[in-house]
Amino acid sequence: DLVLGIETSCDDTGAAVVSTDGRILGEALSSQADLLSQWGGVVPNLAQSEHFKAIDRVVAEALANARVHESDLSAVAVTIGPGLSLCLRVGVRKARDIARAHRLPLVPIHHMEAHALVARLTEEAVNFPFVVLLVSGGHNLLLLAQDVGQYLQLGTTVDDAIGEAYDKTARLLGLNLKHGGGPALEEIALEGDPNFLNLSVPMRSQKNCNFSYAGLKNQVRLSIESQNISPDLPISEATSEERQLRADIAASFQRVAVQHLEDRCRRALEWARTIDPSVDCLVVSGGVASNKVVRSKLNNLVEAVGLRLVCPPPRLCTDNGVMVAWAGVEHYKRGIIDPPPPVDEPDDVRLDLRPRWQLGEIYAEGESFAC
Ligand code: ATP
Ligand code: FE
Repeated sequence: DLVLGIETSCDDTGAAVVSTDGRILGEALSSQADLLSQWGGVVPNLAQSEHFKAIDRVVAEALANARVHESDLSAVAVTIGPGLSLCLRVGVRKARDIARAHRLPLVPIHHMEAHALVARLTEEAVNFPFVVLLVSGGHNLLLLAQDVGQYLQLGTTVDDAIGEAYDKTARLLGLNLKHGGGPALEEIALEGDPNFLNLSVPMRSQKNCNFSYAGLKNQVRLSIESQNISPDLPISEATSEERQLRADIAASFQRVAVQHLEDRCRRALEWARTIDPSVDCLVVSGGVASNKVVRSKLNNLVEAVGLRLVCPPPRLCTDNGVMVAWAGVEHYKRGIIDPPPPVDEPDDVRLDLRPRWQLGEIYAEGESFAC
């Protein structure tokens, strides 16, 4: 059986066809990188109009790459949240149109669950239960994944997500944002001294699995300002001393940002194994999981406690249609689906969108857990 997945929660329009036995038959993606670097963030109504422009082509391309027609599909999966409702509705409308026309079941998908489950498509033997760290532009989550649709939330961010801190810092350093702030910062950090700034690692005294990146972001902003670095001077035009200074700051930021992930993951693995000793791997996904320093530091940590680190390939860590199609497969195989939309559904039907949608139950013992 074949499942079409559609993703429009933020600024990427993605679609893919994945078979129930886990083959990616075709995929397509249209991203709004130019708009992003021009406006310094996602502007909801501009993003929505880009999705409108792209959606038909992206879905047609995914189907054409897979060499299948809409009528060959068994179900249509679509992200219904969390995300920008203006953007989500573009994907949900498209999914309903296809499902209605061909009498196909719909599979509503949680964007962050799709980020997590895609690891089970790309790697062997990622079995429940496992711990998952989701690190992206809007989320910083540690979860114990117990089954499809069943998660215990071990920690989340109390303010900003790590991806947001990367993006903001990259902007202040005047980096080239064409491929996103995160990748630009990772690249320049290779040239820098990670111990140049003496930054404090967030939340060390709080023995839980929550995250905080606002303080780190501010510390770095203050040192950028005190060094008189102008975000308006592009790195390409900086002198070699200026370039070195920016690289040193980038490397220092990255060292502490990643150290915070390590601290929280170490504790989450300990907690998780007291809840369920059969936990044997840490999945890391979301845009920031494509970062090589993140991968290697977490790999060391996980190997030291005799577990396995699983990261999807970078193109499946950032937003894409494949992860939604695969999350659709996981639900479809378990019969967790919605019926096809009624044939006479009016155009102005109220769509079930979940712009804010928590994944799983909060693990209440977390705050007081001793380790
Ligand atoms: P969310 O999933 O929370 O809704 P999103 O969908 O915008 O947010 P993703 O596409 O999953 O996020 O990830 C984008 C984020 O990942 C951006 O903040 C980007 O800077 C960051 N990112 C991507 N590549 C890297 C990298 N190599 N190093 C650090 N950060 C990165
Ligand atoms: Fe995402």
